[in-house]
Amino acid sequence: MGIVMKGADVANAMKEELLQRVAGLKEKGVSPCLAILRVGARPDDLAYERGAKKRMELLGIDCRTVELPRDIRQEIFEEKLKELNEDGRVHGILLFRPLPGHLNEEAAKRIVDPGKDMDGMCPANVAKVFAGDDTGYAPCTAEAVIELLDHYKIPLSGKRVVVVGRSMVVGRPLSMLLLKRHATVTICHTRTRDLPGVCREAEILVAAAGKARMITQDMVGEQAVVADVGINVDEEGNMWGDVDFETVQEQASHISPVPRGVGSITTSVLAKHVVQAAERQTDNE
Ligand code: NAD
Repeated sequence: MGIVMKGADVANAMKEELLQRVAGLKEKGVSPCLAILRVGARPDDLAYERGAKKRMELLGIDCRTVELPRDIRQEIFEEKLKELNEDGRVHGILLFRPLPGHLNEEAAKRIVDPGKDMDGMCPANVAKVFAGDDTGYAPCTAEAVIELLDHYKIPLSGKRVVVVGRSMVVGRPLSMLLLKRHATVTICHTRTRDLPGVCREAEILVAAAGKARMITQDMVGEQAVVADVGINVDEEGNMWGDVDFETVQEQASHISPVPRGVGSITTSVLAKHVVQAAERQTDNE
């Protein structure tokens, strides 16, 4: 039976270090601050916002929400984003996406100050992640997987890692973060031939496809490490990962559950980014 990799254990370990860094900033008179920019009130955004606020509060990081009406015009929306860029008290910005269809998300990605872009969405941060330059910010979920594997002391160098999913928020940036750590990475997607065969070869398998329980026992090699990023909610409101946990656990060496796995680490990575941003902005003054 594989060891269950619990997100809360990772978040708790991160908490100790972050509390010290926040205290260090406060000694210098700096109060790290995250601004959440939310357009409308999607239940998913509200749920994430509650979790993020709780985590920031626990760590002594200020968190304010700017809520904009769902039907806001592009110009006004862009103005609000620029105001946050220019506000010296705000160190990091989190913009909830997807934006309502009438808003231009690509434009927003180009407006946000790369130094405040806490979820690694702007082109400058994407480029840094792809170049293996860690002076930028990666998407929080992708980095949360690295935090999970590091916490459980899973070596990455030289390992055969298969990532299922190639989105710009999870699969691709995560693959680049793994590559920076010298893993041998295979990226799979909907057109991959013989997905089960490719997955079986993995020493570390990361599922980020958004398909409930699609990774079945026959797709996992003996003693593989399995990280599940998927969040799939069925009609009854139950949450499932991309991995068929019960059967896969039998042969994995380590496995992360859903819920209480990778998803419980994301807000800690967000907090880490805010602290990093506050430190960097203070050093640059
Ligand atoms: P996405 O839909 O943008 O991308 C999914 C990717 O998986 C695509 O590249 C697609 O090619 C691939 N894929 C889909 N079905 C596949 C299949 N049957 N076989 C092989 N590849 C397949 O999704 P996303 O935004 O990357 O999110 C992926 C999952 O992670 C979702 O369940 C999402 O809810 C979850 N997620 C979790 C967190 C978190 O905090 N834990 C954050 C973001 C996303």
